[in-house]
Amino acid sequence: MSPIAPKICAVITARTCSDAREALALAGSCADIAELRLDYLEDFDFENPTALRPLLEGRNIPVIITCRLPEEGGIRKVDEGTRLRLLIEGAKDYADYCDIEASRYSEATALNPDRSKLIVSYHNFSETPEKIDEIYSGLLRLPAAVHKIATRAVSVSDNIAIFRLLERAQNDGAQLIALAMGTPGLISRILGPSRGSFLTFAALERGAESAPGQLTVKDLKSVYRLHSLTPSTTILGIIGNPVLHSASPAMHNAALSLLGLDAVYLPIEVDEPRSFFRDFVNPSTRRMDWNLRGFSVTIPHKIAAMELVKEIYQPALNAGAVNTVVLDGEVTRGYNTDIQGAIEPLARLRSLAGARCAVIGAGGAARAVVCGLIQNGGNITVFARNPDRASDMARQFGVNVAPLESLNNGKFDVLINTTPVGMGGHSEDQSPVDPTAFTPGVIAYDLVYNPPVTRFLKDAHLSGCTTLSGLDMLVAQAGAQFKLWTGLEPPLELMMEAAKRHLGFSHQAGK
Ligand code: NAP
Repeated sequence: MSPIAPKICAVITARTCSDAREALALAGSCADIAELRLDYLEDFDFENPTALRPLLEGRNIPVIITCRLPEEGGIRKVDEGTRLRLLIEGAKDYADYCDIEASRYSEATALNPDRSKLIVSYHNFSETPEKIDEIYSGLLRLPAAVHKIATRAVSVSDNIAIFRLLERAQNDGAQLIALAMGTPGLISRILGPSRGSFLTFAALERGAESAPGQLTVKDLKSVYRLHSLTPSTTILGIIGNPVLHSASPAMHNAALSLLGLDAVYLPIEVDEPRSFFRDFVNPSTRRMDWNLRGFSVTIPHKIAAMELVKEIYQPALNAGAVNTVVLDGEVTRGYNTDIQGAIEPLARLRSLAGARCAVIGAGGAARAVVCGLIQNGGNITVFARNPDRASDMARQFGVNVAPLESLNNGKFDVLINTTPVGMGGHSEDQSPVDPTAFTPGVIAYDLVYNPPVTRFLKDAHLSGCTTLSGLDMLVAQAGAQFKLWTGLEPPLELMMEAAKRHLGFSHQAGK
């Protein structure tokens, strides 16, 4: 079989030979190449390279065989002579490539390998070392078909070293797989092939990852449209920590795809926003040559981002937080779409002018809600458990404040929960208020979106209230971001469907 130009490599981590065969067939239907991790197999005869035949014959995809040592990230100790013989003989007779660690190169070459099937690899599970260029040069002195460098990204800036290596390899005419492992390295896994990486590894399904930060084949293909990315693709994304479970990549990439835009939205795990702005954003200092158009900012960087952008729009100043950055030539602009996102769904249900609104909580989301309600003429009381945070809001926004326990029925037209109480994995099935706080005809709005129907909304529904879920805000604020970056009307229904799919909701939520 002649190797194709591969991009997505499905890693097979099956425990039995029969599961591995099935997984290889599945990989053949969705990926470009597969890596069979022999060290995961429990019923495989490692002494006997011919044991590969029933696994690999009839395959419809090129296959790399790998049998990783425990100290190189593998899970099984196999006698070293047996392991190398299995890989070298196995590649000659059955597989398309075998992966040999650079530290074992001389032992492997003593077995007379077919060098056109050899991948020589370097792994570093603790960091991306400063001397990565020397490591690359040393690796390339070991003749092979493909060279591989996989290091751990301690911070997002480590991706830059990986992208530089890929550039070097292209200039050198070398076939290189380069990636940064771990969640800060995700962008190298998604953008690597468009910048010359021979392939990117992916899990066949969630839970079957063989290395930290690996995405699934399905996500790389359908969410990130990996095969259509090029070095000139416009880059958008979300910075924060954590970002891996954010619904934003699902929503924005679905919208970009529907509108046929050459753009991708990436999850970018960032611990130090100042370094991120320096290395990836500000045109005069950035070390990354990419077509960045803007990004979402999430917890915990929404306040820090205020100081890092060049211009801030008034609503973001009022809310004291930036959740959206737009790059316009040399200028970075900070916006806050949480305000618009929080109010739009509510304003569709009733006029807010003069509406008596109880805002529960006094954190970042509460500030966005209060700003929006003020703009729309709402009459606001903030109910908070922490009197200091409440009085800060009273001072800044001129709203009424009251202790949370004093919230009772009959006095409000709209009740808005801006606390995390009721969130899945946090305080699911709890409500920040007593059910008696709800009376018929009131609108109950919960900013929590997972689950889509919280205890707060269930109690409200039982009391005859109209309910509104945080999903509506999630989609509305994302829609406003999309418009800022692209200038186009966001396909909100599609974004809602993408968010629900990502969050695992199958039914219409919150209404
Ligand atoms: P935050 O800044 O940490 O503020 C949380 C607020 O809730 C604080 O006032 C906190 O009080 C209060 N609180 C926490 N636990 C409480 C409890 N058990 N009882 C009473 N009050 C409690 O967080 P945030 O950024 O505002 O986010 C809050 C929630 O809104 C999260 O669930 C988030 O997912 C959701 N949200 C949703 C969207 C959306 O698009 N739907 C957007 C933004 C936020 P203390 O000050 O006393 O700690």
